Parts: sequence; structure tokens; C-alpha cells
Amino acid sequence: MVLGNGIAGQTCAEDLRKADPDASIVMIAAERHPLYNRVALPRYLRGQVRREKVFMRTAEDYARQNIEIHFETWATDVDLTDKIVLTNRGQEFKYDAILIATGGRPKPPPWPGSSDVSACLPPEGKGDVDHARAMVSSLCPRRGRRSALPAARRVARCGVHHVR
Ligand SMILES: Cc1cc2nc3c(=O)[nH]c(=O)nc-3n(C[C@H](O)[C@H](O)[C@H](O)COP(=O)(O)OP(=O)(O)OC[C@H]3O[C@@H](n4cnc5c(N)ncnc54)[C@H](O)[C@@H]3O)c2cc1C
Repeated sequence: MVLGNGIAGQTCAEDLRKADPDASIVMIAAERHPLYNRVALPRYLRGQVRREKVFMRTAEDYARQNIEIHFETWATDVDLTDKIVLTNRGQEFKYDAILIATGGRPKPPPWPGSSDVSACLPPEGKGDVDHARAMVSSLCPRRGRRSALPAARRVARCGVHHVR
């Protein structure tokens, strides 16, 4: 059982598969996407990398490796005594061994009032970046995305060095 399909969870699942062709491998993934490259997200946000270049796996890759993955599913509880994972979809998964590879969470910016900002989007996941890109486009809807990007870059420069 692997919780999280970031690079840590993915590597674990794939290495397990290489070591044991018959093991039952189940992944619980909060996101809707197969593994993607977080490092490429700032360039994707800037429009310098095409969407398909961000992805490192396809949904078919999991099937091909006989890895059972549940996208858009949150592990809500782990019963370490009885070895059961519960999910937000009401599922219960029994496991023999578990890797919890659910990553970290960005800290909110330390500026006064930053917690009151309605649209503070750390470029942590692809969903955040897609949301940010949609916001960028909405900044200058009539003038198109080419004009919106420099405007958004100025906004982003205020605090998030990744987006520069
Ligand atoms: C914009 C950006 C740029 C970066 N640039 C670099 C770089 O240049 N060099 C470098 O070394 N590192 C870089 N990093 C850091 C690097 O991406 C992380 O160290 C790495 O992604 C961590 O991998 P992980 O698998 O441990 O966790 P994550 O990639 O965070 O994956 C964890 C996954 O678990 C999922 N998850 C969380 N909770 C649950 C739950 N309860 N149930 C199910 N799933 C859950 C999350 O949705 C996520 O998909 C960057 C990160 C970002 C965001």
C-alpha cells in the first residue's frame, strides 16, 4: 500500500514491482493526475512548457505495471494496528506493508494579512498551477493570454520567487 503518487510513492511502487512481479500494489492518490514533474510547474505556469511535457507517467503506465491506483482519493485514516487504510470514498484497504509518501505542505507567506488573501496559490501541485493559469487569463480577458502573462508575472513577483 502506497499513499501518495508523487516521486517518492511512484518510485517505491515501481521498484516493488521490479522486485516482485506478483505483489499486489495499491496506490491512493489525492490528485487526479498521473505522476508529473513539480520542478516543471513554474515553467508551465509561465507558458514555457507544454502541458503534456509536465507529465512523467500516463494512466496506462500504472495498468501496464499492474499497479492499482485510485486517483482523486484521499487516505483519511490509517489503522496501524489492524493495518487498514480508510479513504474519503468510504473504502477500506487491508495492507501488509505501507509507505506514507504524502509529501509536505507549503507554509503560507509570512507577511501580515497574507492569511486573509483569497487567492494565494502556492505552485505546489498541478491543480494549483492550472488554477493560477486560469486566473492569469482572467486578468486581461479581452487582450488574451499573451498580455495577461506579464501582468501576472508582476503580481507573482511580489512574493513567490519560483514564478519569477
Ligand atoms: C514548484 C516546485 C519546484 C520544485 N523544484 C525543485 C527542484 O528544482 N529540485 C528539487 O530537488 N526539488 C524541487 N521541488 C521539490 C520536489 O518537487 C519535492 O521534494 C518532491 O516532489 C517531493 O516528492 P514526494 O513524493 O515526497 O511528495 P509530493 O511530490 O508532495 O507528493 C505527495 C503526493 O501525495 C498526495 N497526498 C497527500 N496527502 C494524501 C492523502 N491523504 N491521500 C492520498 N494522497 C495524498 C499529494 O496530493 C501528492 O500528490 C520543487 C517543488 C515545487 C512545488
